[in-house]
Formats: sequence, C-alpha cells, structure tokens
Amino acid sequence: TATAPALEARGLSVGYGAMPVVHEVDLHVAPGEVVALLGVNGAGKTTCVRALAGDLKPLRGEVRMNGERVQSPLHRRAEHGLRYISEERSVFMGLSAADNLRLGGTDQGRCLELFPELEPLLGRKTALLSGGEQQMLTLARALSVDPQVLIADELSLGLAPLVLERLLLAVRAAADRGGAVLLVEQHVRDALEVADRAYVLSHGRVVLEGDARDLRSRVGEIERTYLAGA
Ligand code: ATP
Repeated sequence: TATAPALEARGLSVGYGAMPVVHEVDLHVAPGEVVALLGVNGAGKTTCVRALAGDLKPLRGEVRMNGERVQSPLHRRAEHGLRYISEERSVFMGLSAADNLRLGGTDQGRCLELFPELEPLLGRKTALLSGGEQQMLTLARALSVDPQVLIADELSLGLAPLVLERLLLAVRAAADRGGAVLLVEQHVRDALEVADRAYVLSHGRVVLEGDARDLRSRVGEIERTYLAGA
C-alpha cells in the first residue's frame, strides 16, 4: 500500500466567523517533499496553513497526518510531530540567542549543528540581532526536533536574498532527511528552486498545482496569470 501523506487537507474550507475565505482545498505533502503554497496577498495562504496547523478550526473538511484525522489545537500538534512557523516571529526578544535555543527543552547543540553561524551570536540579546538572524533562530528551533511536518509561513518576510537562500536550503535539507515541508512563500522563483511541487491559491481556491520543475519552466506565465497583484 502507498504511504499516506504526512500532511493532507481534504475539502478544507476555512474562514473567520461563518464566512469562508478558503474553499474546499485539497492538498498533500509526502514525507521527503517540499511543497510550496503560492498566491497573491489575500489569496488565503495564511488562513489555509493556520487551519492545517490547528490554529484555526476548519468550517468544513479535514486535516490528516499520516492518514489519520487530526482535530487537536495547535499546541497539541507538536505531539504529532508538527512544527508551525507563523508570520509573526516567535523568538523571545528579551532573551539571549542562547536562551532562545534552550527554551522548552530545545537541543541547543542540534540547533548549532544545523546553523553553525549562530554560534558567535549566542551571548547577544535577540532583539539586537538582524531579522535574518532572528528567523534563523526560529527555524533552528523548529528543525532541531526533525519535525515530521514543518509548516512555514513567509519565512523570508523582509530578509536579504542570501539569508532567504540559506533558510530555504535548510528547509530542503530537512525534507531530504524525511520531513514533509509546506512552505508559504512570496518569492515564487526561490520557492520553486527548492520545492518538489507547488499549489497556487487564488481567492481561496487551488487554481493550479504541479511539479516544481514544470512550474519553473513557465514561471513567467504563472506570475502574470495568478500572481500579478491582487
Ligand atoms: P498575505 O500574504 O497577505 O498574508 P494570504 O494569502 O496569506 O495573504 P490571508 O491572510 O489568508 O491571505 O487572507 C485571506 C482573506 O482572509 C483576506 O481577505 C483577509 O482579509 C481575510 N482575513 C485574514 N485574516 C483575517 C482575520 N483574522 N479576520 C478576518 N479576516 C481575515
């Protein structure tokens, strides 16, 4: 029998109050895959991944991990091996970088193995680090547990291209170790470089899905059709 996807949405509708802004989305991420979720601002990407992560309750449809329906809230999904990096940076600004890498039983040694460039920053207060360094702390913490599923929403928000590339390669490596990664990303071309597959959301619906290689070969057309401003 085929292995069940690590993460799956079936007929997922999500909204605020009773009004859906995400409509009947089907998507899946297999172990070892990086899947990009693309779309203009307001397309519903964040709403969709918040439901997948258990941060919003779906109006309809279901979320499955390894073939089993999950209904637990966000804080319980870590037990299923899920890590979620939201758009808001989740580092503690008042703490040192070292303390951020030790919080909640985080394995600081593993974090430094994944991101050796964090070593010289350990003694600094997190608020004084660059946005990229703060995001690296966030990603290091998430990846240090070798999550079965990583959902990352706009990892790259406001980061320099080289930092973005570094983070995306770390995400790719996590998938190569067997994790399933769902990546919301504004930088379509960069995302397609590391992704295996992608879905494009428009007005809360999946309007296109395909292999990253295929989508890369017609990225200009895709940007004009689906991603050119709202
Ligand atoms: P962005 O890249 O700007 O985050 P997105 O594709 O992630 O865009 P969403 O943030 O999911 O899109 O927004 C989809 C729709 O839901 C938009 O019309 C938005 O205004 C609405 N929306 C988002 N968050 C809320 C909220 N907390 N309450 C009510 N409506 C919301």
